[in-house]
Amino acid sequence: MEKECVLYVKEKNKRAICTACEQRCLIPEGKTGICGVRKNINGKLYLMVYGKVAAKHIDPIEKKPLYHFLPGTYSYSIGTVGCNFRCPWCQNYDIAQFMEIYGDKILGENITPDEIVKQAIETKCKSISYTYTEPTIFIEYAVDTAKLAKKHGLKKILVTNGYMTKECIDYFFPYIDAMNIDLKSFSDDFYRKYCRASKGLKPVLDTIKNCHKKGIHIEITTLIIPGLSDSLKELEKISKFIASVDKNIPWHITRFFPAYKMPDKEITPLETLKEAEKIGKKYLKYVHIGNV
Ligand code: SF4
Ligand code: SF4
Repeated sequence: MEKECVLYVKEKNKRAICTACEQRCLIPEGKTGICGVRKNINGKLYLMVYGKVAAKHIDPIEKKPLYHFLPGTYSYSIGTVGCNFRCPWCQNYDIAQFMEIYGDKILGENITPDEIVKQAIETKCKSISYTYTEPTIFIEYAVDTAKLAKKHGLKKILVTNGYMTKECIDYFFPYIDAMNIDLKSFSDDFYRKYCRASKGLKPVLDTIKNCHKKGIHIEITTLIIPGLSDSLKELEKISKFIASVDKNIPWHITRFFPAYKMPDKEITPLETLKEAEKIGKKYLKYVHIGNV
């Protein structure tokens, strides 16, 4: 199943600019953007993963992690293949970086938005989460599902790296109730070098501010990777930034385990997490250590 994207603009010579995320790929005819799932066919952009679920689980909402939104409930969680980032520590790289393994073959089970909502209700979930890879890249599928879910009183959650555009936020805003947004680092270089985020850190900060302003419930996650994102100075900058938006925003600091292109890196020492927690608590009301 594929469907024409909502978030794109047509360009000269049958090219298209995708406006879903801040990579803002300029895509020539016959090609896909960085995420590998938004394809230019004859000058129009199509979402190749529409209705194609690559991962599906019924998770406790605390696993998203969201600790301050519908606690004690289950969330019907889905994701497609593809991601707009290239994090070398990705725990879900087999689906996020599917192109490395499967080329342009789109994997997944065919499930319509209607069926997702039906399954979420049948399994007594209180919400639907778009997660595992990056929901921004399949936002039209997420929004179509969310529109139906809203009618049935289900809440809708994005678990995201926060690299969406303002246009994307305006598009999903009326249908999304809560978000867990990664703030992976406070360094521009980190975002450019490791995530291959072409515009660095700023779009993530803008998303946090913008979505909070719109009244969406926000929690933030920082994965603390030894030697990469464990500088106490930087963790202090993150805490201060979150507090500047709202000191009641919960901050999850999570433990790194070796994965993907970082199999030899050490696990985050517990002492580092405790130090980070101490720093966070100077500025924020809720700091949670995760993955331990
Ligand atoms: S979602 Fe982002 S990475 Fe994917 S095509 Fe659009 S701008 Fe590019
Ligand atoms: S943003 Fe998330 S899903 Fe995408 S590559 Fe990074 S860790 Fe993996």
